[in-house]
Amino acid sequence: MTRKPMMAGNWKMNKTVGEAVVLAQDISNQFKGTWEACDVVVCPPFVDLKPAYTVFEFDRVPISVGAQNVYWEESGAYTGEISVPMLKEIGCEWCIIGHSERRGYFGETNEDVNKKAKALLAGGLKPIICCGESLEVRDAGDTLEFVCAQVRAAFAGIDAAQAVKCVVAYEPIWAIGTGRTATPEQAQEVCLAIRETLAELFGAESADAMRVLYGGSMNPGNVDMLIAQPDIDGGLIGGAALKAPSFVQLIEACI
Ligand code: PEP
Repeated sequence: MTRKPMMAGNWKMNKTVGEAVVLAQDISNQFKGTWEACDVVVCPPFVDLKPAYTVFEFDRVPISVGAQNVYWEESGAYTGEISVPMLKEIGCEWCIIGHSERRGYFGETNEDVNKKAKALLAGGLKPIICCGESLEVRDAGDTLEFVCAQVRAAFAGIDAAQAVKCVVAYEPIWAIGTGRTATPEQAQEVCLAIRETLAELFGAESADAMRVLYGGSMNPGNVDMLIAQPDIDGGLIGGAALKAPSFVQLIEACI
């Protein structure tokens, strides 16, 4: 099965609306390839979602927008939260959940990730489910067990028909924003284990159809080796997604 590659940019807490519009325009103008060959998603802060969506719609480029977080209730007294219907109405197609920064700084648990995944799928949005180990877990030799447990927990109670809409992003915490990338072999080993876990849960055919991304200091210099691995279907990009030339180079590498 050939899976369509995907490049998703996680802008984190960067870019005011004005800056986001400029970056979105730069990405849409600088890419000269065939958009259809790769699914491109940008995930800006909440306030930038609609402006970025509007730029891509105006330019008629098939770049999707995604949020970086969501709450699982539809509406109500949840001060500061954003719901799935709110995201859907402004054109959002994707949502990152379980990013290690949300797990680490904001106490997001595996159970929260599972509730968010179910709410997104029920509301017609597609989750990008992040998983990944700390250096302590890796040094203890527990990486595969830890990451696969995160994957099982995220998908609890989700059936194969829904699961195939999801993307899993393997992001070793020690590689995020550190400039220290996992070697292609390290990344492949974990992405393969993730796919095997998905096969256990949903069957080989579904697992084969699902995209597993690598994230962690991916950049134009290391992307080729990483996406050449059989179980790495693209990237979730932080730092290198904040400048149009590097993000565009990453998209081009997938084509
Ligand atoms: C991320 O935070 O999702 C990420 C991969 O960041 P960076 O590319 O900066 O390591």
